[in-house]
Amino acid sequence: MHRLIASPFLGKYLLVQPGHPAGVRISEARYKELRTRTADADAPAWLHDAARQAWDMTLDRPLSTDLLVRERSKYAYGRASWEINLGCDYDCEFCYLGEKRFEGLGWDGKRQLLHVMRDAGVLWLQITGGEALIDREFGAAYSYAHQLGMMVQVSSNGSSLRKQPIRDLFARHRPYRLTLSVYGATAATYDKVTRNRGAFGRFVKGLDAAREDTLPVRLNVIVSDGNAHEVDAMVALCERYGFPHQVFTNMSPTIDGEANPLATQAESHLKARSIFTGCNAGHTFFHVNPHGIASICKVGRDPSVNLITEGLEALPRLGAIAESLQLRTGGCSGCTKVGTCRTCRPLAKLYQEAGDRRELYCQHGGYGS
Ligand code: SF4
Ligand code: SF4
Repeated sequence: MHRLIASPFLGKYLLVQPGHPAGVRISEARYKELRTRTADADAPAWLHDAARQAWDMTLDRPLSTDLLVRERSKYAYGRASWEINLGCDYDCEFCYLGEKRFEGLGWDGKRQLLHVMRDAGVLWLQITGGEALIDREFGAAYSYAHQLGMMVQVSSNGSSLRKQPIRDLFARHRPYRLTLSVYGATAATYDKVTRNRGAFGRFVKGLDAAREDTLPVRLNVIVSDGNAHEVDAMVALCERYGFPHQVFTNMSPTIDGEANPLATQAESHLKARSIFTGCNAGHTFFHVNPHGIASICKVGRDPSVNLITEGLEALPRLGAIAESLQLRTGGCSGCTKVGTCRTCRPLAKLYQEAGDRRELYCQHGGYGS
């Protein structure tokens, strides 16, 4: 299996090592040089130097064994996220996924989808859920994404991280990032918030395993009214493990526009989002649901394109879809405060569908002022 990837990425060229978030930019000439080298050729001197400097790596095999060269894509995408399955072993009240049906593509569909993402130019892939690790084919899909030359990040609740097959999988193919959510600092709170008995014990065992295996963990502390009294303890838990963390306080309506998660917010902990200055959703990245339906991102899910039935050629339609979804229409039409709005139009639309709690997203309701 390759230890390095040379790849085009958004008009530039990168050298990356699977399992590590940092890349080295290389010139087009060097990319071409690597792409045209024969199978038995050794690494050029500059590549030895770059690998040693960036990752303390020695290249001592024929270059074709160590290096995978990704082809150029005529599509302009560099990143994607993929909900492999919406099923989850937790039942958090604030989950933005709403109804979490355990369903998705079979193995042939998953393989086809990974090929489409690779051919679209995706170098950085986030596999998420539901709970990604409990999908029967997570291991196969995760390994296959690596094999195709994608850099893989996994988002998980950590409930299966202690299991030996998962530990072996991540030892074989290291994710470049493993993002885990934190729902409490004690068993009483964590199990209550996730509505799953014994969940905290399993989570902590997962954290222990991840630390022992030196996995690149990042922790997301999710604050709700059910665990807000443990924010400091949750942060202390992150610090004890030495994993970087972020604190999230704002819930969103569900992807079907249901308001339920909003009722679970810890009002006194809410923080205003930054002013929205645009994003590249649908242009350089996209999101795919468990059925292979691609949308501009996790929030703006409609309209969409079906990557399984329509194929890769349908993907560029997301650019025009993104443009139309960002227009300040509907509940935002004619707004005079767009320039200082903190909520992108797709998210504002979700709030409006969910009953328009303006104080949570809109300056006309006092939000962010
Ligand atoms: S939620 Fe809004 S800001 Fe975030 S990616 Fe989607 S459109 Fe962009
Ligand atoms: S301030 Fe409110 S109405 Fe104006 S664009 Fe933002 S969300 Fe829409």
